[in-house]
Amino acid sequence: MKLVRFGEHHNERPGVWLDNTPVPGQASIMDVRAMAFDIEDYNAHFFATHGLDRLRALLHESHLKLIPAAGIRLGPPIARPGKIVCLGKNYAAHAAEFDAEVPTTPIFFSKATTALNGPFDPIVLPRDAQHVDGEAELAVVIGRTTRRVTEADAPNMIAGYTILNDVTDRDAQRDGKQWFRGKSADTFGPLGPFLVTRDEISDPHHLRITQRVNSQTLQDDSTSQMIFKIPYLISFLSATITLEPGDVIATGTPAGIGSARTPPVLLRAGDIVEIAVENLGAQRSPVVAA
Ligand code: ZN
Repeated sequence: MKLVRFGEHHNERPGVWLDNTPVPGQASIMDVRAMAFDIEDYNAHFFATHGLDRLRALLHESHLKLIPAAGIRLGPPIARPGKIVCLGKNYAAHAAEFDAEVPTTPIFFSKATTALNGPFDPIVLPRDAQHVDGEAELAVVIGRTTRRVTEADAPNMIAGYTILNDVTDRDAQRDGKQWFRGKSADTFGPLGPFLVTRDEISDPHHLRITQRVNSQTLQDDSTSQMIFKIPYLISFLSATITLEPGDVIATGTPAGIGSARTPPVLLRAGDIVEIAVENLGAQRSPVVAA
């Protein structure tokens, strides 16, 4: 299934994205709340109470409440999560372009949940920010309360996968020593368009991942190049930190980010950033000034 949230900012409704229904070639959205009023949103409660199984059952009902997807705004595909855990330098070639040090232990940092943005919403450049660029990332959404799991059990804790653009203000990142502020400006977390459930992604470490800015390809790599793989990350984190349903783990970005290029490719008002991960869809974010 492809879960979406649609409607106005901060007032999105849960939906399921359906291709070719009812009109071939045109997508529609199943309006979940119109069919099951107790499913308020894709939040921790939803995942913890077998919400995905309920959605699958709804899809088999004889009368689906469908709306045409064309022209409908999509928000992030999950409600505000408890935490967004990001990973620094999880692709060796990116570690080389960043500061040449390849980590031997995963480097985690956090992004404010208020940074989350819809997959087609504008990225707003903070006033005076001169060195902002994007990072294409595969994001994992946790589906169950996760504590001290083994690597073998870790995949069972995953609800599904989506795309995060880990937009970064490089000046704030480097000047602040700690990365939180540079990663967390409002709109610096385009997420989506879909939460694709785990059953549809047979191997999350075999997906093409790309970033384009104004049609120039900056990143084009495979998630096979991750240094620390997803089961290890979940096992390692959950040894000391409880992961809750809806939590997001962003798995790091490949080489090619704009700020590391010569000459640098930095985001300016009027630019268009496109991020895609194979089988997870694509984002398209216009960049605007504050
Ligand atoms: Zn990142």
